[in-house]
Amino acid sequence: MIVHLNGQYLPIEDAKISVLDRGFIYGDGVYELIPVYRRQPFRMRQHLARLQRSLDGIRLANPHTDAEWESIIRTLIERQTFDDQGIYLQVTRGVARRDHAFPQGVAPTVFMMSNPLATPSAEQFASGVAVVTAEDNRWRRCDLKTTSLVGNVLMRQLAADRGAIETVMFRDGLLTEASASNVLTVIGGKIVAPPKDNLILPGITYGAVEEFAREAGLPFDIRPVTRAEAFAADEWWLTSSTKEVLAVTTVDGRPFGGGAPGPMYRRMYELFQQHKPK
Ligand code: PMP
Repeated sequence: MIVHLNGQYLPIEDAKISVLDRGFIYGDGVYELIPVYRRQPFRMRQHLARLQRSLDGIRLANPHTDAEWESIIRTLIERQTFDDQGIYLQVTRGVARRDHAFPQGVAPTVFMMSNPLATPSAEQFASGVAVVTAEDNRWRRCDLKTTSLVGNVLMRQLAADRGAIETVMFRDGLLTEASASNVLTVIGGKIVAPPKDNLILPGITYGAVEEFAREAGLPFDIRPVTRAEAFAADEWWLTSSTKEVLAVTTVDGRPFGGGAPGPMYRRMYELFQQHKPK
């Protein structure tokens, strides 16, 4: 597998960074994951805009223009042997003697790799998936896509321990998101999604679903969703660049939404498939 490290394309075995990299020492960096269908990036512009937002949020200068990022991404896509890809890119604050404050005059570390895109199975799309729920105990800048992910790792493991694919979180009685996905609900025939505030990642797939819903004339409300409303909702969906849109049919070990993907989900699944690069 060919990866990109600081301007070079090389086999992953040869890609090496210093143990003093601030990404390693502090998780002091940001990342993106861009899905690629048949060698065509999906929503690249939106991913690069979110990268800029995350970099601004951690006060790190963007090492590349969007045109440069696009060129590196397209080169990396071409160098792989498979067509459907997940482009992972990360930028850290670089290598410096260990001290929390920002180092001066240090170049950021830029790393990119591509893995086969791991979309859900046909069975998961058809039957839905299981989630567990937990209180959201992460920091309050969940809108930044930082590589400091231990809070999300612990949440995801909670799901794995219980044979579920995600942990859906609530903070102070309101729905936030899941450990690596956004959560949208269907209440009274409307798609209802939590606001993109500092407590959730502004998901690119969430944005895509919103756009496709509005184009198709499906009602889409953005407002806080209480725990009681969420548990009484007709449908829950998980959205992410690798999951696309997945229906939740089991919550905390009990059937949810009749135990099968709902009618609004089926509509959105079709819309999503239509919009994917062919
Ligand atoms: N929330 C979190 C915490 C995530 O890690 C992800 C996946 N990157 C998402 C939401 C979904 O974002 P996207 O649709 O951009 O993949």
